[in-house]
Amino acid sequence: MQFTPPEEEPRSIEPVSFDFDAAVKCLQSLIRCKTVSYYDHTLEDDAEFEKLVGLLPELYPHVFEACTLTRLDDRALLFKWPGREPGNPSVLMAHYDVVPVDESLWEHDPFGAEVIDGVLWGRGALDTKVTFNGAMFSVNILIGRGFVPKHDVYLAFSGCEEISGPGAAHIVDWFIEQGLTPEMVLDEGSSVRAASSASPRRV
Ligand SMILES: [Zn+2]
Repeated sequence: MQFTPPEEEPRSIEPVSFDFDAAVKCLQSLIRCKTVSYYDHTLEDDAEFEKLVGLLPELYPHVFEACTLTRLDDRALLFKWPGREPGNPSVLMAHYDVVPVDESLWEHDPFGAEVIDGVLWGRGALDTKVTFNGAMFSVNILIGRGFVPKHDVYLAFSGCEEISGPGAAHIVDWFIEQGLTPEMVLDEGSSVRAASSASPRRV
């Protein structure tokens, strides 16, 4: 409570060109899958998780041209994007399950993924389907532009994070078995929004 963050110099953000509307459409498709995790697994709808996984080749076709997908137990997904030369890989992480929702408390359908007044409504939109989509959509674009990373990049996704499930642990075990030590892991954090000025701020 006593911590006051130091003033930060405004940073300039490097503009990136991509099809914003297409990215939103992909995120909407993910949100419309009711991938709700429960401690009581009998409440989970496995078909909704499979629906999301089944959509991925259509949403991110280049990812499936250049990357291999390994499905591990407990809904863990691991994509390998091969690099140009040997070296420790980078790992981009997210989870595609969401926490249960009390629909009576929502102003809009939590799985409708409607954009209302510039706001995308959806359970898991921030936590963390936007992260999932960010990784998959950007890798899809880069592959489509012919980009090949220097070292391997892994996209690692849990489907049971919200119940502290073992999906991510299976991925860690897989890395250990392969003798791989990631150089960098980028995981779920808090959300960061670019304000109208060039200075990013946390919200
Ligand atoms: Zn989360």
